[in-house]
Amino acid sequence: MSAIKFFSTNGHPERVDFKAALLMGQAPDKGLYIPEEIPQIPGSKIGQFPKMSYPQIAYEVIKPYLGDLVSDSDLRAMLMDAYNYDVPVERVYDEKYVLRLDRGPTCSFKDFAARAMGRLVQHFLREEGRSILILTATSGDTGSAVAHAFYGLDNVKVVVLFPEKEVTDRQRRQMTTLGKNIFPLAVKGKFDDCQALVKQAFVDPDLSALDLSSANSINIGRLLPQAVYYFYAQSRASPEGKKAVFSVPSGNFGDLMGGLLALRMGLPVQKMVVATNENDEFPVFMNTGAYEPIRPSKNCISNAMNVGHPSNLARLFSLYGGQMDETGHVSRQPDLAAMRKDLYAVSITDEETRQTIKEAYRQHKVLLEPHGAVAWAGLLKYLNQCGDWSPCISLETADPAKFPEEIIRATGVNPPLPAAMARLDELVESFERMDGRYDSFKEYLKRFL
Ligand SMILES: *Cc1c(COP(=O)(O)O)cnc(C)c1O
Repeated sequence: MSAIKFFSTNGHPERVDFKAALLMGQAPDKGLYIPEEIPQIPGSKIGQFPKMSYPQIAYEVIKPYLGDLVSDSDLRAMLMDAYNYDVPVERVYDEKYVLRLDRGPTCSFKDFAARAMGRLVQHFLREEGRSILILTATSGDTGSAVAHAFYGLDNVKVVVLFPEKEVTDRQRRQMTTLGKNIFPLAVKGKFDDCQALVKQAFVDPDLSALDLSSANSINIGRLLPQAVYYFYAQSRASPEGKKAVFSVPSGNFGDLMGGLLALRMGLPVQKMVVATNENDEFPVFMNTGAYEPIRPSKNCISNAMNVGHPSNLARLFSLYGGQMDETGHVSRQPDLAAMRKDLYAVSITDEETRQTIKEAYRQHKVLLEPHGAVAWAGLLKYLNQCGDWSPCISLETADPAKFPEEIIRATGVNPPLPAAMARLDELVESFERMDGRYDSFKEYLKRFL
């Protein structure tokens, strides 16, 4: 089986295979890799998914992109090992479900992407006898998921940059209590500043001797595994294969891109609800056709979604025939009519988010945290405006125990601490602080030369 090729959203002429795209992270022209051709999963195969386990479905969804780069038995083993935890599809009322993506080791949906990616990277590096330095910027949950997924691997070091004032104590502790090959950096600034530092380091010729790679949602290796849970959830919510409405809490739009890949691969989808917090640059674009990043991004309680310019928009535009560069400049408009057919974009305020946490608990005894509540609120708005539909699947992307203050205030319930987080408060933290200047970051990285 020949592997799918990937091209850069900025138009670089070179096509690369999955392995190259995975290990490079970003294309040489600062674009993001996207598959040239999206493989179709036949309806007859999708019809078998209700009887298949999560790792089995993951194999069917990811394999077509890899071709012969990884043997069947190796890929199956990696996926079995990566997805060794529950993926509850929890009924809220009627055929309305919450998909709980919070049962991995860091209690966030980012474990899904990071764990598959970590295993694939390790596999390819071992083949080549090569070592890399991964730079990853996080607004909260990416950093810990990536750090845990790569923790203890011989041929990978990970530098995690996080905005020092914008992550919760528990989010920080998940990154700073590991040690070994994990190097956390608290940056004075916002997530966007952290991401800008990482992007600049990638194109800095002085650092070319470092074998740099990224593990952010810009890495294609993070994106493909995020198509899997859409297939999985749909197969559980509607074994007979009815089209589903999904609602996706969106920050950098990596999660959404996974859903859109799934849709293009043949998943029966009625609508993708794109739910953002008050960083509403995308819902505004969908209304007006004009794209304007929000700088600086707004601080909302769903802090992993405080993104004023989602990096995956370049991919989203490309998927609909448009072109956007890494600064947000649009050189070719996407097909807005086609986007509106697939997507319903909606911005949810913090006030609405809090109200939603409260009401979901009061009416249905369902505990949501701020990110999942943004999705649930977005879904309810969609159903209100466009008419009822079943089945609906709203993505819950973190464990409520990661945001205890908001949950207690809204519901009076102190969310139970999952085992994965219970020990965190006792572990010793270790990290460095840094101002937001590129020069400081560069000096820091030179230590790894
Ligand atoms: C990262 C994150 C999101 C946003 O996902 P994107 O892929 O960046 O859109 C939503 N919820 C939680 C809890 C997250 O950690």
